[in-house]
Amino acid sequence: ANAASRLLLGIEARQVSGRPLLEVTRNRVVREAVEEAFRLDEPYEFEFEVSGLTRRYLAVRATRLPGEPCPGVVVVLHDITDLRRLENVRREFVANVSHELKTPLAGIKAYAETLRMGAIHDMEHNELFVARIEEQADRLHQLIQDLLHLARVESGREAFDIRDVSLAGVIEGCLPTYLERAQAKQLTLQIEPAEVDVVVRADEGALATILDNLVGNAIQYTPQGGRVVIRCRTEGDSAVCEVEDTGVGISPRDQTRIFERFYRVDKARSRELGGTGLGLAIVKHLTQAFGGQVSVRSELGKGSVFQIRLPLAK
Ligand code: ADP
Repeated sequence: ANAASRLLLGIEARQVSGRPLLEVTRNRVVREAVEEAFRLDEPYEFEFEVSGLTRRYLAVRATRLPGEPCPGVVVVLHDITDLRRLENVRREFVANVSHELKTPLAGIKAYAETLRMGAIHDMEHNELFVARIEEQADRLHQLIQDLLHLARVESGREAFDIRDVSLAGVIEGCLPTYLERAQAKQLTLQIEPAEVDVVVRADEGALATILDNLVGNAIQYTPQGGRVVIRCRTEGDSAVCEVEDTGVGISPRDQTRIFERFYRVDKARSRELGGTGLGLAIVKHLTQAFGGQVSVRSELGKGSVFQIRLPLAK
């Protein structure tokens, strides 16, 4: 038994040769694999789970050595934990996407059916139903746009136009839209100007997307009368941009998960507000694409500060 196999099977005994396999490995699957290999002419393969300090998935392949009588069996173990985890992520992702697509589709179908069953002649409500169909179709469109965007960024296929970009310039460009949205919710929107012009190397459009998502969320998750602040500064050789709100806040447990695709603290509420649950995942991947990172500090009921950190332009 080499060092790797001892680690994988959690073998503690120093001296293993001459001792019963089950006693040393305390693992029935491995013993069965050896027994099967003795019996068979072909290698015996099997995947199983070991629960030790951390849960691991192992693939075992037991092969009979040639000769009569058979001198022994070689057991090879592969740690396939990462592979399993990726498979799970993929499965979960497909399930999530299907679910997210199903909801607006079901809405469209229900409204269309209602219209067909007679509501089309109901002059008071028919336009409302058509408007709802349009709304749900827009949601589907947004969802697909976000998914495609995320896929492009993640695969590194997004063609960025990287150059020196002033953060103040990006903020200024987006400001009219933000002001309008903040006003509609009776929020105060404040820009704290930096002492120096903060210039990063990035794609201007992508920076605007990052900011749009963060400011959009801040406005979304802050009740009427609240305040949203955007500020930038330099720190060493990093540019720091923060979006602070006095909104509902995020619990420490949720803070570790909100950057995952489709994760929302309150699914029903986010959907109602037109969220796709992909915004922060896009922010994370875009920031990373420019060599930066995103983080959050937040307190439930008090508010949140989202911070992006990017390398300064030389
Ligand atoms: P969504 O489309 O649901 O806004 P995001 O990926 O942008 O998706 O955000 C994920 C979740 O993180 C949101 O559903 C929300 O629960 C939480 N969240 C994001 N920004 C804020 C914020 N500023 N204040 C409170 N919660 C937030």
